[in-house]
Amino acid sequence: MEIVFLGTSAAEGWPGVFCTCKYCQRAKELGGKNIRTRSSAVIWEKILVDLTPDTYLNSLRHNIDLSKLRYLFITHSHQDHFYPPELHMRVEPFAYLPEDATLDIFGNSKVTKIIEERVNCEKAKIRLHTIHPFDRIEYEEFTVTALPADHAPEEECLLYVIEIDNKTIFYGHDSGWYPEKTWEKLKEFYLDVAIFDCTFGNSEQRQGHMGIPAIIEAKELLEKYGSIDNRSICIATHFSHNGGLLYDELVERLRPYGFIVAYDGLVLNV
Ligand SMILES: [Zn+2]
Ligand SMILES: [Zn+2]
Ligand SMILES: [Zn+2]
Repeated sequence: MEIVFLGTSAAEGWPGVFCTCKYCQRAKELGGKNIRTRSSAVIWEKILVDLTPDTYLNSLRHNIDLSKLRYLFITHSHQDHFYPPELHMRVEPFAYLPEDATLDIFGNSKVTKIIEERVNCEKAKIRLHTIHPFDRIEYEEFTVTALPADHAPEEECLLYVIEIDNKTIFYGHDSGWYPEKTWEKLKEFYLDVAIFDCTFGNSEQRQGHMGIPAIIEAKELLEKYGSIDNRSICIATHFSHNGGLLYDELVERLRPYGFIVAYDGLVLNV
């Protein structure tokens, strides 16, 4: 089963859309894995987590056929995770879809309300599902458990545990330090892949987002709970220029702790 990281940046992208800071300048000079766009991932060809302003271009870059998508899980309504105008492009004459091309979209009440207001879901062949923390979505081929994040208090920001093909993936951003109830639930899973919010580099930040010290501690705690072990793949992503560490510096800092540093176009086969 394949996971493709389409984008790996925080809200502003890296280099930031309008930013002139030295870290954005360095990213431009170095190029390659230092160029990051808004975070989303395709899992098992049919599941997209977050639809961003960059998802379409990334799908072309990384050879992803978005017409094969059947399920879209939105973590929260921030613009770097949720770009609802794109969904209107499923309506004719913008798209000609096969009869059975339904897209099931899952998100919190803020997300589904915005889609309802802006998109003709019937014409776009969209089925909307408002979900809440601890809801469990069960299909024949996979199961998804929604968990609360500590990210934006004005909405229920969600993290997802996706069980598919006998593998379990934790999609853990955007998030600060996980709420107690999230830790409790995570204890119930063995995670083959754990994806962490590493927005703020070496900062001690734990509220809203995490930095390197927090994700190291989170990984240690998950190890203690038996949720991950040395076979688990731990990924750091959602990097901001405010973290200040370029790709090679992140690798040097995080490799000793057993993290893979995500980059746009990273493909994992698990
Ligand atoms: Zn974000
Ligand atoms: Zn910058
Ligand atoms: Zn956010």
